[in-house]
Amino acid sequence: MKVAVLSESGVDEAIVAEIVRAILPDPIECVDLALRTRGIQYLLASAFVSRAKFCAFKPDIHGLVCVVDADLKQSHSESQSCWSPCLASIEDFRACHSECRLCNLRRQWVETRLAERRTEDRLPVLRIAMGLAVPSIETWLLAGTSDGVDETTWNGLNDREKQSYRDRVKRIVFGDLKGFDRRREIAQERIVHVIGTLGIDGLGRLFPDGLGALRNDLEAWH
Ligand SMILES: [Zn+2]
Ligand SMILES: [Zn+2]
Repeated sequence: MKVAVLSESGVDEAIVAEIVRAILPDPIECVDLALRTRGIQYLLASAFVSRAKFCAFKPDIHGLVCVVDADLKQSHSESQSCWSPCLASIEDFRACHSECRLCNLRRQWVETRLAERRTEDRLPVLRIAMGLAVPSIETWLLAGTSDGVDETTWNGLNDREKQSYRDRVKRIVFGDLKGFDRRREIAQERIVHVIGTLGIDGLGRLFPDGLGALRNDLEAWH
């Protein structure tokens, strides 16, 4: 099954791909979306919608997965939002918070009406799955270690503590490593190790909103 993974960086995409592999029952082949520009602002402003449209017109692509970092912005709350991956009307959608990046992407997805368009053209519906990491996806790599911070802990930190952890987390994972390939390799090793030790259930319990959202969406794929 071909799956397109979209994140702020190629390293993040490698992490997300491993999580998708752990959740979906079928083997996946990742499609390279060949982004020339990177970063959260570009992704939120235009890349998400343009890549989603690209995928929607490629019938061999089964689904699109997108995970973004919250940084110091709002955490996502599943219970405060109203969403399903096949939501057709924007009236049925509710963001958990106006500053939530995940709910921002969800809104954009509903507004594209891509799921419907594929049906009109008698193509299989493009599946969507999205998640949010606090403060960044590297936190998922540290799950189960003494440097790990789960969502409940993160939400209980004050602004200064949040900033300090946000600034440290990448260094904890990658140290001084700069090279993309090496970073991707470390990230892949770490996430495979985390999934192997905690299981996807254990990981999901630590991040019930941001990773839980991704998992709920993926489990609705057939
Ligand atoms: Zn990142
Ligand atoms: Zn949200």
